[in-house]
Amino acid sequence: MIGIGLRPVKIGFAQEEKELLLRSLYDYYDQIVSRLELACRPRCSACCTHNVTLTSAEAFYLLKGLRSKGRLDLIDRLKTAATRPRYRPAVTTNELAKICLRGEDPPAEGEHTPGACPFLEDDLCPVYEFRPFACRSFISKVPCPEQGEALIPPHLFTLNTALMQVLEYLDLGGLYGNMIDLILFLEAWENKKEETVPEELLSCHPVPEFAIPPEHDHIVRPAIGRLYRQEVSGKRFIDRLEEIEASLGEEPLSFLTQF
Ligand code: SF4
Repeated sequence: MIGIGLRPVKIGFAQEEKELLLRSLYDYYDQIVSRLELACRPRCSACCTHNVTLTSAEAFYLLKGLRSKGRLDLIDRLKTAATRPRYRPAVTTNELAKICLRGEDPPAEGEHTPGACPFLEDDLCPVYEFRPFACRSFISKVPCPEQGEALIPPHLFTLNTALMQVLEYLDLGGLYGNMIDLILFLEAWENKKEETVPEELLSCHPVPEFAIPPEHDHIVRPAIGRLYRQEVSGKRFIDRLEEIEASLGEEPLSFLTQF
């Protein structure tokens, strides 16, 4: 176990169980999105930038995808991209929710600098099935290149944030940060070339409360409830989530019982 801030980090902890939940959450979300009429099409890669963030459970899953596709060569592209400035979050999604709940101002965020995702090949994603939630939730009802920005239904934006909170919670003991930083660190850690967690990587936190504005509560809270009750290999999603937390040596949170 490596010390970082006030919370312990246990890299690779319960990765198999976390991956089960991760894939279940991805499927759940992909089904929701498949019912929408979107402008997103293959080779429209306007949202594929080097500013993508993810959790370590997602980064391990992506690394597994690179290995299974025989594409570990793509790591070299990340190393080149790592020499350029990119967005690095100052706080995690759950830390931000906690700060807002306390009525405090969030810290200044890192800058979203221009730059394409180093994975992109011919405007396509070579790791599409393994892409993190941030990429799955970059969706738009209008073509972004023409309109200059994405148009996301407001309640979906709220659901995205809530699911990012769940993703962070399911990776307790893990890390959160920029995709390039996190994948390069985990790849070096797996190869025993790195032991110290770099300071730009943040530790994951439990959900303090979901960041849901009152007008979206009737849509988003039931959607989270459905995910939590979903069966994942013979157990409910929420039961597996609580097991991971309990096995990390922490008490289950009371908010989980509200669903
Ligand atoms: S990982 Fe794939 S989907 Fe995500 S930004 Fe990179 S190329 Fe796009």
